[in-house]
Amino acid sequence: MRKPIIAGNWKMNKTPEEAKNLVTELGPLVKDAKCEVVVCVPFVDLVETKKALRGTKIKLGAQNVHWAEYGAFTGEISATMLKELKVDYVIIGHSERRQYFGETDQTVNAKIKAALSKDLKVIVCVGETLEQYEAEETITVVSKQTIEAFKDISKDELKKIVIAYEPIWAIGTGKTASPTDAEETISVIRKTIKRLYNTAASEAIRIQYGGSMNPKNASELMAMPSIDGGLIGGASLNAQDFAKVVNY
Ligand code: PEP
Repeated sequence: MRKPIIAGNWKMNKTPEEAKNLVTELGPLVKDAKCEVVVCVPFVDLVETKKALRGTKIKLGAQNVHWAEYGAFTGEISATMLKELKVDYVIIGHSERRQYFGETDQTVNAKIKAALSKDLKVIVCVGETLEQYEAEETITVVSKQTIEAFKDISKDELKKIVIAYEPIWAIGTGKTASPTDAEETISVIRKTIKRLYNTAASEAIRIQYGGSMNPKNASELMAMPSIDGGLIGGASLNAQDFAKVVNY
């Protein structure tokens, strides 16, 4: 049985003070959650958020990490730095990072390795553009992204990785993939993991859906057998809304 995982991706929103207020409100609202709950906050919010999360079951996540251990990479943050702040998860390869910051399947793979080497858990994002969706290339695109992301990652390391399937045309647009479409693509990703590793690994890995998931559509998406949670953008910026998704 896979334990569902619902993670909020705040993107570039919330100051440290606002972060503290949000998680202070969120804690009691999700105290009986049956799924794992994570908030992925801006780097500058990590310290305040960690403090405010004390006594809750909510895990802390970052939204990016650099592939190098340290060095001349102005403006970047290493896995060692995140680990020292007691970060649990890091999102890698979000489509906004691929689109605006030139991340490629190769840098995604390098970043996953860097995160795992410091014992951070990873949420790796895959998903197709609207153009690729309309050209019926979804399966080809997400399979390639998955294969490249997991290059030289061992079966043992796989246990520390969650995949988020996020159709880019559904992110922040209010358009959601239908539960059956999301289920179908996620099943293909699972089959790819089976081909790369084995049946047990493919049955164990958790795969989230992301893309305009909200309190209204969370339960029907979560009812699909292959969907093991959600990566939530907009609806995670409000404690009440995020709690409704978590308590789907
Ligand atoms: C995301 O940022 O990963 C996301 C899914 O955003 P939204 O929920 O706003 O579509």
